[in-house]
Amino acid sequence: MLLLGARDIIELCAALEVSPSKKKGQNFVTNPGTVRRIAAAAGVTPGDTVVEIGPGLGSLTLALLEQDCKVIAIEIDPRLAAALPVTMRQHGANSANLCVMTQDALEISGVSDLDLPEGWAVPRQLVANLPYNVATPLLLHFLEVLPGLEGALVMVQAEVADRWVAGVADAAYGAPSVKLAWWGSAKRAFKVGRNVFYPAPNVDSAVVDFQRLEVRQRLKEDLKLSAAGLTDEAIETLRKEVFAAVNAAFSQRRKTLRQSLAKYAGSPDAAAALLEAAGVTPGLRAERLSVTDFTKIAAAKLYGTSDTK
Ligand code: SAM
Repeated sequence: MLLLGARDIIELCAALEVSPSKKKGQNFVTNPGTVRRIAAAAGVTPGDTVVEIGPGLGSLTLALLEQDCKVIAIEIDPRLAAALPVTMRQHGANSANLCVMTQDALEISGVSDLDLPEGWAVPRQLVANLPYNVATPLLLHFLEVLPGLEGALVMVQAEVADRWVAGVADAAYGAPSVKLAWWGSAKRAFKVGRNVFYPAPNVDSAVVDFQRLEVRQRLKEDLKLSAAGLTDEAIETLRKEVFAAVNAAFSQRRKTLRQSLAKYAGSPDAAAALLEAAGVTPGLRAERLSVTDFTKIAAAKLYGTSDTK
């Protein structure tokens, strides 16, 4: 299959009268080696259905179709979405394996919103070169609304990758690190330079391999929570509470938890009491807390103790 090179990308932009939009994060990959490496690292096999956010001109889409998998490509820019099947055909891809949706991926609210053609499996993998300004909200959103997603292999700005993979107390550790740790485990796959894009971004990039882990199992093991209370609804309520605590704690990350969680808990004293009930030292800062610590705080807020029994 003929993948897209720099000349193809420039010619496609001219033919479609697209001048890449910074706001939409439109930096198109011009290097076949890079997209082939991403498709290979994703480990997709023939027959798999993959969801791709932001196919753009189709650089990565072609590399995925080359693996003989099925691709649901969700593109916000109607000009790019309309051109995609044509480009795929022109480059020798099997366009029967491509389903294009023209829409904001953040508006997908469940698997039923995907235009899955008959006979296609539910996607288990997200593979994308994400629009850099909304990469974290997009990944978190897809983990939430597509429970069938087992993993994601995505390219993002290098600094964003650092935040995603950071562990407790690392310099880059922050709210995105904890929220992703709720869903699973992220590791950096490889770096990508600026010269493989058109236009070249003014930041470096990195590919991240994210694997979803079984949240129910983690809650049972880490927190000794009783299985009986862990319905899907209870887990979702707990997750929302965890994310609220994370947002509060990291919005004032230089302060101690007693202060940063004061509004969340009602007052500095209520925050101290909550933290003590959760077994977390009130004098610590947010950057010292793991997802398990935040889960204990959320459980204490919801149930008065860190046990759901
Ligand atoms: N996958 C292509 C590649 O690797 O060359 C393009 C990647 S480019 C970094 C990001 C793409 O995401 C653009 O095509 C942009 O129009 C699209 N996009 C931006 N925001 C989006 C959103 N909220 N939902 C779906 N697509 C979006």
